[in-house]
Amino acid sequence: MRACGAEPVLCEIPGTEFDREATYTILGVEKFCAENGIRIVRIDPEGGERDWVELRPAGARSLRRFHIPRFMQEACFINLPVLKTHVVSTMTLGMKNPMGILPRPDRRTMHTLGIAQCIVDMNRGIKPDLTIVDGSVGQDGEGPLYGEKADLQVLVAGRDSLSVDLACCQLVSVKPRDIPHLKLALEQLGQPSLKLVGEEVGMIKQFRLPKQKALYRFIFWLMYPLDYPYSWIAERGRHFCTMLYGTGLVGTRPQINEADCTRCGICVETCPLPNVIDLKTLQVNYTTCQRCLLCYEACPENAISVKGYSGVRGLS
Ligand code: SF4
Ligand code: SF4
Repeated sequence: MRACGAEPVLCEIPGTEFDREATYTILGVEKFCAENGIRIVRIDPEGGERDWVELRPAGARSLRRFHIPRFMQEACFINLPVLKTHVVSTMTLGMKNPMGILPRPDRRTMHTLGIAQCIVDMNRGIKPDLTIVDGSVGQDGEGPLYGEKADLQVLVAGRDSLSVDLACCQLVSVKPRDIPHLKLALEQLGQPSLKLVGEEVGMIKQFRLPKQKALYRFIFWLMYPLDYPYSWIAERGRHFCTMLYGTGLVGTRPQINEADCTRCGICVETCPLPNVIDLKTLQVNYTTCQRCLLCYEACPENAISVKGYSGVRGLS
């Protein structure tokens, strides 16, 4: 990008259930960007005219208006999804990934009105200059939280997100019509004329799609319409699911079992965030914990269990 005279910047809006700065700390985003000279653009995740500009894509059926970052009007948009499954949208590829640059109120609208149709509508307004699906390490099964690592070692790139997604489906032997938003895209946008260039790789791995758990999907969906009345009375930036997860009663979360714990402190050292685990009381502060589960993986005594309904076997 620099060779083309461009300046790479990173911009992303985490969902309401995550804190942006804490997520960057866990993932090492700031260190990576500092080492590679990438500027991080922090815009107001809650929207507002200062940082956002409205789009009204022609032909949209559900998401008739939404916002993109103002600076993107003059920027070249490189869309960088991972080749993986998702319990809500079945797969997250090129067409879904731009949700990550929409402000939280628009994402709430998408979930409330129906994610599949809204993804198609969003793609009528957002046309990435280039989509590169990172399948170096993909994920299948119950993604994105409990999927299986898929060692694919492939990158799929193209200018048209739907074409790129169709090519990805071929690589993992998934029928596009089994992905609700791709099915709608093919019906409403038409079959793209897809020209494959580069190495012919055929099918790499038969992906297992997530099981559609109706109760989980309903509860997940319900958080979004309930967020409307909650955000009217709550402080700006506070959301219903943040409050709910902060209670420690719901959501995927670590819990320390006192009987098995030796108080070695490894979980505290491993946790990338300060003051989340209290070694004296063995309590986890669920208002600051970002549920990365690094502590669960690090505990030598298996004294940390993962609580919360996720539909995953063997972890609850
Ligand atoms: S790492 Fe495990 S055993 Fe050690 S303090 Fe944490 S929970 Fe207890
Ligand atoms: S307590 Fe565990 S799950 Fe929570 S942020 Fe720390 S390491 Fe991640």
